Amino acid sequence: MEINRIGVVGAGQMGNGIAHVMAVAGYDVLLNDINAEALDAAVARIDKNIARQVSKGALSPEEHSKAMARITTTVDLPELGQADLIIEAATEREDVKHKIFETLLPHLADHTILTSNTSSISITRLAAATDRPERFMGFHFMNPVPIMQLVELIRGIATDQETYEACLGVVNKLNKTAASAEDFPAFIVNRILMPMINEAVYTLYEGVGSVHSIDQSLKLGANHPMGPLELADFIGLDTCLAIMNVLHDGLADTKYRPCPLLTKYVEAGWHGRKVGRGFYDYSGDVPVPTR
Ligand code: NAD
Repeated sequence: MEINRIGVVGAGQMGNGIAHVMAVAGYDVLLNDINAEALDAAVARIDKNIARQVSKGALSPEEHSKAMARITTTVDLPELGQADLIIEAATEREDVKHKIFETLLPHLADHTILTSNTSSISITRLAAATDRPERFMGFHFMNPVPIMQLVELIRGIATDQETYEACLGVVNKLNKTAASAEDFPAFIVNRILMPMINEAVYTLYEGVGSVHSIDQSLKLGANHPMGPLELADFIGLDTCLAIMNVLHDGLADTKYRPCPLLTKYVEAGWHGRKVGRGFYDYSGDVPVPTR
């Protein structure tokens, strides 16, 4: 099946990255968000990020302008209905995602493949609420999308081979690498990564180390390029908490209980880098630990 036109729902940090790489790879992209300002901000960010690739010699100025011309934005979700492939990358809440697919359903072309960039929510459950569980799968990019090499492709229980192969073809065209994952809570990367981040928050909560010493320990002691708290801020603490809750609920094991300090930061609205404050304060030139 040929994919030319891609709809992206949600223009936050993941949605703008997905629109960026798709447009550079030659796909026509229709980017949707409920918030018109988020769409303007996403287009400005994509423009800036592609300009950076041009300045490094990775792309030509002509490729830059062609990619930008392939991106259209809309606040009207049904307009995405005629896309060949839709990638939902809205807020990590199951009710939000169900509502998006429910709104899209009456407007979809028969052949449209539906996918979600969810970090943790059951693909099978999202698919079952649509009219096309066989043409539904998880299309999970890593953050930041233009830089990270991996895409997890998650088959729901009903996903057919043609859908999997069409999505694999897109990953190949992006020059990225696909990892095939089964549909269990948080799939592969976050099943392993999030409990480590949650444990780092427990380590902070119990006073074993400060934000600085925890991040420094994992960077210098385990050769991680970013410390776990720095990484949590980068991912978004609301997203980290949502993933821990999915692991906790879905696997019913207390080892996945979210750290109360993580919950408290999210309750305070300290969602990390995207809002200027999380385990670090980003208001100055250099991030400053908040504990
Ligand atoms: P974000 O908070 O940066 O952006 C979410 C966007 O969705 C916002 O612009 C919001 O206005 C929009 N939105 C909310 N409801 C909507 C609706 N009904 N219709 C259209 N748009 C809507 O979040 P993000 O970090 O980009 O995460 C988006 C998705 O990607 C989540 O499912 C998350 O789990 C997943 N994800 C995140 C990361 C990460 O590191 N942040 C990595 C991989 C996958």
